[in-house]
Amino acid sequence: MEILVPSIPGGKATVTPYVVAHGADAFLAFIEKAFDADVYLRVPNPDGSIGHAEAKIGSSVLMTFDASPDWPPTPSFLSVYVDDVDATIDRAVSAGASIVTEVMESAITGDRGGRLRDPIGNVWWVQTHQRDVSPSEMQAAFGDHDELAKIRSAQVSFDTEMRSRRMTQPDAQPSPDPAFEAAYQAARKSFGEGGIPIGAALARDGVVIASGHNERVQNGDPIAHGEMAALRAAGRQKSYRDTTLYTTLAPCAMCTGTIIQFKIPRVVVGEARTFDGEFELLRSRGVEVVVLDDQRCVDMMRTFQEENPELWAEDIAE
Ligand SMILES: [Zn+2]
Repeated sequence: MEILVPSIPGGKATVTPYVVAHGADAFLAFIEKAFDADVYLRVPNPDGSIGHAEAKIGSSVLMTFDASPDWPPTPSFLSVYVDDVDATIDRAVSAGASIVTEVMESAITGDRGGRLRDPIGNVWWVQTHQRDVSPSEMQAAFGDHDELAKIRSAQVSFDTEMRSRRMTQPDAQPSPDPAFEAAYQAARKSFGEGGIPIGAALARDGVVIASGHNERVQNGDPIAHGEMAALRAAGRQKSYRDTTLYTTLAPCAMCTGTIIQFKIPRVVVGEARTFDGEFELLRSRGVEVVVLDDQRCVDMMRTFQEENPELWAEDIAE
């Protein structure tokens, strides 16, 4: 007997978004809160990260999984129709999204909508369809000064958002030191989660023991600077005298104190241009300080500091 099966399984449509997430858990939590998503499938990897997950928003299926920490950010661009765009955007913002394009009504599309950046960096067009626009109405709207100004404002706000993500100079070469790369990737992960983009790693004989990033935003932990998070992740060590601590940004007084207390002999710092840290204190206590002046780290911190001046002031207690 012939068994008829649907040509596309699982309630999917022909095309389904597949969001590669630096923080799939955070992404799923966001879409649950903002869009009332039904997360009906979660397949974990052995390390606890998400290997595959599926969720339904309205009539659409969306798939996601955790990016490997050493993959670059690959934001998704998603358009979603909702019943009440203003209420949805309010919920999204309270779930951690930021506004990219303010809500506006378009006589060209008949939609009321705006754009959001979600907590892990995807961009959502959120809109409510208000009325169908006839071809002649659309033609007329394209000649309307106010409508053209709206289009321009939507383009500029999107352009500003995308430019803010240019974190690397075209000629920037990745550092060959894997421990520094681990620290840098941890910082990028935090940046991708909307957190403070500072990462650190502890290494022994060039081998990474553990890495971590600032968790002020993610966990509400004011003490979890990148260096502290990496040291905590490394667990108890009999001795730190043969270790090197890598950090993307010059260590603050708290982390410097910890480096001295743990007798870590060497610190490799990504950059000290956006924050000058406590090099004098470190060196006065015999700690070797190497500054890479890594342009990627400078660009990432500058972008962050410009976008989040208050958060940055809070982190350095100013
Ligand atoms: Zn610190």
